[in-house]
Amino acid sequence: MSESIRLTPQIERILISPEQIAVRIKELGAEITRDYAGKEIVILCILKGAFLFTSDLCRSIGVPQKLDFMAVSSYGDSTRSSGIVKIDKDLSESIQNQHVLIVEDIIDTGLTLSYIEKILLDRKPASIKICVLCNKPSNLQQHVKVDYCGFTIENEFVVGYGLDFKGYLRNLPYIGVVKKEYR
Ligand code: 5GP
Repeated sequence: MSESIRLTPQIERILISPEQIAVRIKELGAEITRDYAGKEIVILCILKGAFLFTSDLCRSIGVPQKLDFMAVSSYGDSTRSSGIVKIDKDLSESIQNQHVLIVEDIIDTGLTLSYIEKILLDRKPASIKICVLCNKPSNLQQHVKVDYCGFTIENEFVVGYGLDFKGYLRNLPYIGVVKKEYR
């Protein structure tokens, strides 16, 4: 763990260090590069939570790639799923006949990703695969096929490395657990 990392007051402990994140992203990038060899892909970053993960991951993927963004909201300021998914920003280009790699921050209930996958499948891509930074399988309500997973974690509310707490803390270089009194 880097000496320079300090916990912010809201963080109880560091779950995944910057070093662990970097190592895992290299592994994921190598796996994705192998799987898509000879193909071109559209990397679809789900905003806002996946922005840091996507920026590191895309640089470790060695196949021709385009980048697009979709913004969805499902939580508001709450730390529990509302089950309601709203598209705040749609893709800027068609994905018809394209190989799409969805990059998401975390799966909790699975409602967000299953909704996104369903609407994207209607747009007739050549294929869709899903890459998530964190998976919390204990809360799953809607099955989602995860093709690439950074880390499987316990049922805890995590922040940092793109993941927010009421809009804040996305800039933390690690993934940490928020203290109970703040949740
Ligand atoms: P789901 O629809 O799978 O329940 O939730 C997915 C979305 O909920 C994620 O994209 C993320 O924005 C939010 N979410 C779920 N669990 C956590 C968590 O532990 N921390 C943070 N910051 N967001 C979470």
